[in-house]
Amino acid sequence: MPALTRQDCLALDAADPLAGLRDRFDLPEGVIYLDGNSLGALPKGVAERVEQVVRAEWGRDLIRSWNTADWYGAPGRVGAKLAPLLGARPHEVTITDTISVNLYKLLVAAVRMRPGRTRILCEAGNFPSDNHIVDSVARQFGLEVVAVPAGEIAAAVDGTVAVATLSHVNYRSALMQDMGAVTEAIHRAGALAVWDLAHSSGAVRLDLDGTGADFAVGCGYKYLNGGPGAPSHIFVAERHQAAFDQPLTGWFAHAAPFRFDPGFARAEGIRAALCSTPQVLSLIALEAALDAFAGVDMGALEAKGRALGDLLIRFHDERLTRFGTAVASPRDAARRGSHVSIALDGGFPVMARLIERGIIGDFRAPDILRFGFAPPYLRFADIYDAAEALEAILAAGDWRDAPVATGAVT
Ligand SMILES: *Cc1c(COP(=O)(O)O)cnc(C)c1O
Repeated sequence: MPALTRQDCLALDAADPLAGLRDRFDLPEGVIYLDGNSLGALPKGVAERVEQVVRAEWGRDLIRSWNTADWYGAPGRVGAKLAPLLGARPHEVTITDTISVNLYKLLVAAVRMRPGRTRILCEAGNFPSDNHIVDSVARQFGLEVVAVPAGEIAAAVDGTVAVATLSHVNYRSALMQDMGAVTEAIHRAGALAVWDLAHSSGAVRLDLDGTGADFAVGCGYKYLNGGPGAPSHIFVAERHQAAFDQPLTGWFAHAAPFRFDPGFARAEGIRAALCSTPQVLSLIALEAALDAFAGVDMGALEAKGRALGDLLIRFHDERLTRFGTAVASPRDAARRGSHVSIALDGGFPVMARLIERGIIGDFRAPDILRFGFAPPYLRFADIYDAAEALEAILAAGDWRDAPVATGAVT
């Protein structure tokens, strides 16, 4: 195969059926943004919508907006808008809190549904916050934690396990699990499956209902572009909602919050997953951001993410290996989420140099240069240009001499 050229990438862009989606975003000049898996870019229309909420709904209408602007219904309304991107039904998803908080709710609810079982199974190498929460739930209920690599979860689950939790796409390697097969194995052992979709929602095709997932959490500020600190989403399969007993029984999970009853009576349906007053501004920002996905076929989006990743890997193999780098993500695109990690010993200053040039990825200690490919707004030529800049920095070789303060790269 002849070596990849920039011309090839321009041709791929010209043939890309999703190329027009880029116009739905406000992207800064001179930046190639490869960190949409950490903080998504700003979709057009969000700033205007947030200003309207602030000025009209808050400033003018004040507290009446809980009803007149339906702030009260916003968590469920935005959840229903997101549900099709997750392969869920509208009444199975709501928007609230953070991943860690929602994971806590789901794990406790799952443990309560499997009394007598003594273990929680989790993914070794998952995002640390997830496993910190697992440890805390285990301590609270006197359970044992078993951590195994994601690929071994299916084999490790047995009749002692109440719940197994793992990421659909690992945050470092991008390794993607077969949600249907793993869920089936978890169910065969009589356990429940809690999926973390942090690096999946808005990037790959999901089918929570079709795969039989019990519970899931996901992120609003990564590929969904909801803005910094955007609230998380939480999925509770319809068949579990009647028995869903999560521990954070705040008034928004009450059947009638505005009756101010002294006793708790759980709301029916997905509203039982809420706890407190919603963060209205960030929730509405996420609602507006989801317009960027209107009419988008998630299968096509996933395919573009894979193609972008394949492109970087090909460039890497043709031109970067002489610098001692290695692809630290699956080469099989069908087993990879929408980012590619390149391992390079002491590579932190390389990412800092890239960022100086307006090519924004991130670094995960000790050795991972991470490049995220948000399919709606990235072009094939962007990947080529970023990879060429990476090659130039590595070829100059002086990056090793210029240490960069840690903390400069998030
Ligand atoms: C980004 C991410 C989180 C973030 O957790 P918050 O509680 O929302 O801050 C958690 N888990 C995974 C796997 C992530 O990628």
